[in-house]
Amino acid sequence: MRLARFDDDRLGLVRNGDLLDVSEALEILPRHRWPLPYGDPLITHLGAVLERVRAIAPRAQIHKIDSVKLLSPVANASKIIAAPVNYLKHVAEARADAGIHFGADIKTIDHYGLFLKSNTSVIGAGEPIIVPNIGRRVDHEIEVAVVIGKNCKDVSEAEALSVVCGYAMALDMSVRGLEDRSWRKSYDSFSVIGPWLVTADEIADSAALNFEISVNGERRQHSNTRKLIFSIPKLIAYASTAYRLYPGDIIMTGTPEGVGPVTSGDRLTCRVDGIGTMNVRVA
Ligand code: MN
Repeated sequence: MRLARFDDDRLGLVRNGDLLDVSEALEILPRHRWPLPYGDPLITHLGAVLERVRAIAPRAQIHKIDSVKLLSPVANASKIIAAPVNYLKHVAEARADAGIHFGADIKTIDHYGLFLKSNTSVIGAGEPIIVPNIGRRVDHEIEVAVVIGKNCKDVSEAEALSVVCGYAMALDMSVRGLEDRSWRKSYDSFSVIGPWLVTADEIADSAALNFEISVNGERRQHSNTRKLIFSIPKLIAYASTAYRLYPGDIIMTGTPEGVGPVTSGDRLTCRVDGIGTMNVRVA
């Protein structure tokens, strides 16, 4: 199933190009008191929510997808984990382009480990990317995003896909420069997640997804997840050696070659096999 969050935190089921308002399913979520548990409540209770969604869908109000404002399908990720330089041709372009490396020696993912992006940098497809006015290049990085569905730690590579509840596409927006990645990539609006969550059962093979991004109609990046240096299972296993993973945690798996700058007014069109198309604008 394809689950969207839209307008004022309503829940939508995306089906045949339409969006069915199934917000009533949210009533099963527990009301929390301080301290709030880690993890996104919707993802924590996803199985029960989906059961309610199936029951409600036949009588749900139908909207056109373009008539709603899409928000990130994950509202409360406890963390956004991201993979640096995880496609070989992106390693090569980063080494070749001073506008990307800024004089730093570009190494590979096994040298850097993973990094975290601020969870307040998250927006959905219906919200604009804000380019900070700091005189720096700000690049698009299209990535396939994995959404964790279970509370887990020290997951083996063999078991890793069993803790995934779904997939989305992500834009890991990045200021180029020498500051730490967690600084350069965590500006407000720099983690676009969407356009909806596709449950894992709908993605037959997450290691064979074509994906691409166009800016104002010109294709900039296109690749396939089979070219990842650290595969999705390896990223999950690796992340979980350090961090306990919670339902709703997001792993941005890395970007391929073709990164490039965006400026005010740009229209980004992203497409990932099995997920769909996501249109995002730069404010
Ligand atoms: Mn990235």
